[in-house]
Amino acid sequence: MNVLIYGSGQLAQMMYLAAVPLGIQVKAVDVANHSVVDPISKQVLNITLSEAIEQADTLSVEFEHVPEDLLAQAQASGKLMPGMEAILTGADRVREKQVLQSLNIANSAHAIITDIAQLDDSVAKLGEHLIIKASRDGYDGYGQWRLSGKAQLADLKQQLAELDLQAVPLIAEQLVPFDRELSLIGVRSQQGDIRYYPLADNLHHQGQLHVSVAPAPHITDELQAQAKSAFKKLAEHFDYVGVLAVEFFQVGNTLLVNEIAPRVHNSGHWSMQGADTSQFENHIRAISDLPLGNTQANTISAMINIIGCDDYSLDLLGLDHCHLHLYGKSVRAKRKMGHINLTADSYADLAEVMTTLAKFLPMEHFPKLLSEADKLAQINS
Ligand code: ATP
Ligand code: MG
Repeated sequence: MNVLIYGSGQLAQMMYLAAVPLGIQVKAVDVANHSVVDPISKQVLNITLSEAIEQADTLSVEFEHVPEDLLAQAQASGKLMPGMEAILTGADRVREKQVLQSLNIANSAHAIITDIAQLDDSVAKLGEHLIIKASRDGYDGYGQWRLSGKAQLADLKQQLAELDLQAVPLIAEQLVPFDRELSLIGVRSQQGDIRYYPLADNLHHQGQLHVSVAPAPHITDELQAQAKSAFKKLAEHFDYVGVLAVEFFQVGNTLLVNEIAPRVHNSGHWSMQGADTSQFENHIRAISDLPLGNTQANTISAMINIIGCDDYSLDLLGLDHCHLHLYGKSVRAKRKMGHINLTADSYADLAEVMTTLAKFLPMEHFPKLLSEADKLAQINS
C-alpha cells in the first residue's frame, strides 16, 4: 500500500514512522516546489507529482495550508482523505466559523471583517478585548493581533491598514476568559466508525502549544459529551476519514470550539507513548481502510514541545518513561524542534518526572513546565 502526504515536515515524518510496521510506504510532497520527497531525509525522489498521485492508493495532508490548486488536483484523483472541503475549512477561519454556526456548535463570539472600518462595529458588538486573526495562513499564533482596550484601536487599525481584507478577511473574536484549553483528537474510518482519544489539557504560551497533558484531569461527563458531540457533528458533516483535532476553550462547564485541524495534531503527540495506538498509526489505518486501533490511554502522559532551542542535555534519555522525538530541523526562534513524551501512573508521579526533566532543559525555553508540574502535583489520583 502507498500513501502520499502533502507537506513534508514532522507530521509527515511521524506518519511515515507509524506506517512502516504496517507495511505501508509513505512519500511526501514539498508543497513549495511540488517535488516528491522522502519524509525522513527530505531527499527529492525521482518521480513527478502526477506519477506519485497515480501510484498512491491514498492521498492525505499533514497541514491544511496546501495551495488550492494542489488540493484540487489531489481531490480530482478521488483518493484524497480527508476530502478537500474539510481541509479548506481548517485553512480558512471564515469557512470554519460558518461551518460551526451552521452545525450549531458553540464557539467564541466573533465578526468577519472585510473592511477595516468594521472594526468599530466589532468593538461595539463584542467589547474592547478582542483577538483579531487573519482568516488564512495563520498558525502558532502568527497572523494574530490583540486589542486590550479602546485606546489601542486607532493604532491597531493603522497596523492592519496594509492588509487586503477583501482577499483575506479578518476575524475579530471576543477574548474568551477561559479556565483552560482542551482538545479532542479522534479518528473516523471509511465506514464511519469513530474512536476518540481522551481529552488533552493544553498550555499555550504566546499563541504556541507548549505542554499537553492527557488524559486531562477533572473531566466531567458533561464536558466529555460536549466535546464528542462537536467532533461527531463535524466529522459526519465532512464525511471525514482520518484523524481530526478539535480545539476547545473551557469556560465553566461549557466548551467553545476555538478551531479545528483536519489532520494529526501537536496536542495528540502524547499518544505515541501514552495510548494503545498512536494518532499517527490511526490516521494511516483510517485512510488505508484498515481497522481502527484502540485509542485508550495506557498511562497518564505529558507532551512537552521543544521550541526554538537545541541546548538540552541528551542525558534526559536516562530518565525512566521519557522519550525524545526530534524533527531534524535547524534552530530558529519559535520553531518546533521536537517534543518529549513523559508517562506516569498518576498526576503526582508525572509532576515529579516533569520536575526532574527540567534539570536537563534550558528553562527559558520551557516557561510553562514547572508551573504545570506544580499544578499536577496537587491532584489526588
Ligand atoms: P495553532 O496553529 O498553534 O493551533 P493558531 O495560530 O491556529 O494556533 P489559535 O488556535 O486560534 O491560532 O490561537 C492560538 C492561541 O491563542 C489559542 O490556543 C489561545 O491560547 C489563544 N486564543 C486564540 N483565540 C482566543 C480567544 N478568542 N480568546 C482567548 N484566547 C485565544
Ligand atoms: Mg490553535
